[in-house]
Amino acid sequence: MTDTAVTHLECSRTGERFAAGTVHNVSTAGWPLLVRYDLETLKQRWDRDSLADAPRSMWRYAPLLPVRLKEHIISLQEGFTPLHRIHRLGDHLQCDDLWLKDEGVNPTGSFKARGLSCAISMCVELGITKVAIPTAGNAGGALAAYAAAAGIEAHVFMPRDVPLANFLEAKAFGAKVTLVDGLISDCARRVADGKATEQWFDLSTLKEPYRIEGKKTMGLEAAEQFGWDVPDAIFYPTGGGVGMIGMWKAFRELEQLGWIGPKRPKMIAVQAEGCQPIVRAFEQNAEFSEFWQGASTLASGLRVPKPLGDFLVLQAVRQSGGTTLAVSDAETMDACEELASREGLFVAPEGGACIAALKKLRRSEFLGRKDRILIYNTGSGYKYLEAWSQRYGSPTGG
Ligand SMILES: *Cc1c(COP(=O)(O)O)cnc(C)c1O
Repeated sequence: MTDTAVTHLECSRTGERFAAGTVHNVSTAGWPLLVRYDLETLKQRWDRDSLADAPRSMWRYAPLLPVRLKEHIISLQEGFTPLHRIHRLGDHLQCDDLWLKDEGVNPTGSFKARGLSCAISMCVELGITKVAIPTAGNAGGALAAYAAAAGIEAHVFMPRDVPLANFLEAKAFGAKVTLVDGLISDCARRVADGKATEQWFDLSTLKEPYRIEGKKTMGLEAAEQFGWDVPDAIFYPTGGGVGMIGMWKAFRELEQLGWIGPKRPKMIAVQAEGCQPIVRAFEQNAEFSEFWQGASTLASGLRVPKPLGDFLVLQAVRQSGGTTLAVSDAETMDACEELASREGLFVAPEGGACIAALKKLRRSEFLGRKDRILIYNTGSGYKYLEAWSQRYGSPTGG
């Protein structure tokens, strides 16, 4: 047994309740489901100091994760990623307390490992043997890896212009890969069309309840690594928004456990100029986003034209006193180069986008020089060689 305190699942809009321990996708009305825990009881039996002896992966927080039996956990040592102090670039940007959480060192080179470790573990627990996912790239690679480790059949639908690394890793991990002429939204339609006849369990972003739980560990870890004191602001590269929703949930759960106080970071959703549905909705004071036509950016993880959980992302941003910001691909790659050349960190464009956004916001006085600022680099630069070679070319020319 794990020490999980899971009790039930709940519709993120209506509060409708669903039993834990049975297979679910979305609520009756089609909204994302959130996992709930008995935090009152957990508070009595789980002490934050006990984490000193816990595994050095995201499974150190097993009481706050949904898996019931230890043998169902499929782990490749995801999470517990390093928190780097960004001194030299920080000085340059006049940020005295700048930090970067490097998710690029996760298995499969991105933080998608957290979500898929949790989701695939739950597939094992619930007896699911065939899964399918539409992906902008990294989720497909991560799913393929965890499905391989679990012995589950994986079907991955990715855009034809996905980064090469994502195609190759998914193939190597033994997934059935389908390249789709279009975006992640077109891939999603292919999964929706096939799942009834093929008996796939649909692992689309926010159409199953457990990827959020895996990604929320980014927030649990940040709080723990800062000594149970959350930063003043978090910059998060927002595609489907799962990490943002997960971290926001994590902070609430930690407060209910009495491990942190009521303070929350300003949650800042960063998007690409070529695909910024959340930024547009925030600026228009709308509850939901609208489908972003012609989505295009080399930060492929941000190429999500209409996130299902848009309203949850917007709630987190607004309730936290945060904001949203879009940056161009050129600004993004400039920032990637700065992180590399000043800090020795070879990051994904999504991580660079956050630095580019920070530069813009520092000029606006939205953040003070002494604020503790946390940037998420969500992936490794090594997965984005096409984007980097647009900058430097390749040794064989081209
Ligand atoms: C998927 C992805 C994102 C966006 O993640 P969400 O939590 O769904 O918003 C950002 N960066 C990278 C590298 C990704 O793979």
